[in-house]
Amino acid sequence: MPQMKISFLGTGAGTSTNRAHTAMVYDCDDGTRLLIDTSSGNSVARSGSKLGIPVESFDKVLISHHHPDHLSGLLFVQFSRALERLDAPPLDVYITSESLDWAISLCASSHLNIDEVDRDGAKNSAGRQVMRWIVVAPGEQLQLGPTTTASCFPADHISGSVGWQVSSDGISVVFSGDTRFNPELVKASQDARLLIHEAFRTDDESDIAFAHGHSTSGDAGRAAAEARVEELVITHLDSEFDSNSQLLIDDAKKHYLGPASAATDLHQITITSTQTN
Ligand SMILES: [Zn+2]
Ligand SMILES: [Zn+2]
Repeated sequence: MPQMKISFLGTGAGTSTNRAHTAMVYDCDDGTRLLIDTSSGNSVARSGSKLGIPVESFDKVLISHHHPDHLSGLLFVQFSRALERLDAPPLDVYITSESLDWAISLCASSHLNIDEVDRDGAKNSAGRQVMRWIVVAPGEQLQLGPTTTASCFPADHISGSVGWQVSSDGISVVFSGDTRFNPELVKASQDARLLIHEAFRTDDESDIAFAHGHSTSGDAGRAAAEARVEELVITHLDSEFDSNSQLLIDDAKKHYLGPASAATDLHQITITSTQTN
């Protein structure tokens, strides 16, 4: 039966003090490995090494938006990867056009093994292309592996933000990115095997979550219920819920009756297709 393994390298919100910023790895049954967001600093390499996922093993990265807690780790991912794999093809970065403007600025200002960057990609001082940008638009279907496809959908956060739906061997996994409650996500998540949804606060503080462009755990539960997903995992937690994520889970369960949990750094889950054909 097809499987997908999901490794949470970072599960903290931008203001989190106890968790790494957001990044995940999807290992699909057809051998495709996807990095979803890049956390900040060296967290992808650090968390990945603890799980036996070397930073140089990534060839494809999907970006949700340009906030530094999701994008800035890309600098170190490409830096370490290029050093470890001198013969590697460019790292393929799937990103919206608006987020790409910020990614280019980030690369240009860091000079971290990047000598030249434009809308095609980035080259190091030896003239070697270390990254290739693949500009994506919502709804566009991307073939990322023999049986793995992905498409993004608009998120309600900052300009250019998206969430990602990935399908592999009949297993559909949706990541919300950062977003307020998002009807576009509900559409993209219909009957998904797994919804990974951010939650910044509980419904009690919905005004705070909304003002920051985020969801409550109740919103995550409502989205999971409306889309009839099979399982919900909450991520992107702020510090106050770090040791008390049950508050978020209980809040989601007011709306969603299926299995719900909160991710932690270095947590890994393996999901299987529940389709019987
Ligand atoms: Zn964030
Ligand atoms: Zn954000």
